[in-house]
Amino acid sequence: MSAFARFTHNGLPVPYVTRWEHETVIHPKLTVQPGLPHRLAFADETPYDRDSFDVLWLRVSIRPGKGRALFKDVHALRQRRAMLDLMCQICGVPMFKEDRQLWLLAGMGGVPIGEGELTTSPPVCRPCAPVALRYCPRLQAGRVAAAWVRSPYGWGVEAFVYDPESLRMVSPEPQQIQYHDPLAQWAVAFRSVVTLRDCTPVRIQDLADTK
Ligand SMILES: [Zn+2]
Repeated sequence: MSAFARFTHNGLPVPYVTRWEHETVIHPKLTVQPGLPHRLAFADETPYDRDSFDVLWLRVSIRPGKGRALFKDVHALRQRRAMLDLMCQICGVPMFKEDRQLWLLAGMGGVPIGEGELTTSPPVCRPCAPVALRYCPRLQAGRVAAAWVRSPYGWGVEAFVYDPESLRMVSPEPQQIQYHDPLAQWAVAFRSVVTLRDCTPVRIQDLADTK
């Protein structure tokens, strides 16, 4: 069992970024903030509601460890923090001072992680890699790709876009939007998207132990 994740649930290690049952999405009243350009805003907005690129983010309460672990869901703020500080998505240790970070991407079907790959999955520290490979159902052998990455850059967000007139969601389907795209000012983000550069592929079998 993991000595790395802070919480376990039903005997399973719970990743740092996982959302818990009592961490609920809050829906503040939407408004238009005047300015050049004007943009979507929360009526009771606080500095925590925007990222460093001034994009508005989904507001989710913070109660890790409360209720059931929702393994299929990710907490928006913890995912954003994990990408910003290059924190391990399993144990939460910050790795921004290291000269490279390890990325494990699911669903790659035998294709290695390529230059410029976009992902919403934060990095994994080396000791947590075997834990992730063993317990995460998405990281099945043959479909997962791994790489050491020296230059991960913030690319944009995954977000729901709102209509500037009606302030209604344009589509229930989220979009990946690049920072500085004007659409980002009419969106509510829930995932940070990074692009991976300077990638060196790693064999999965070489990650099986904690060395
Ligand atoms: Zn870790």
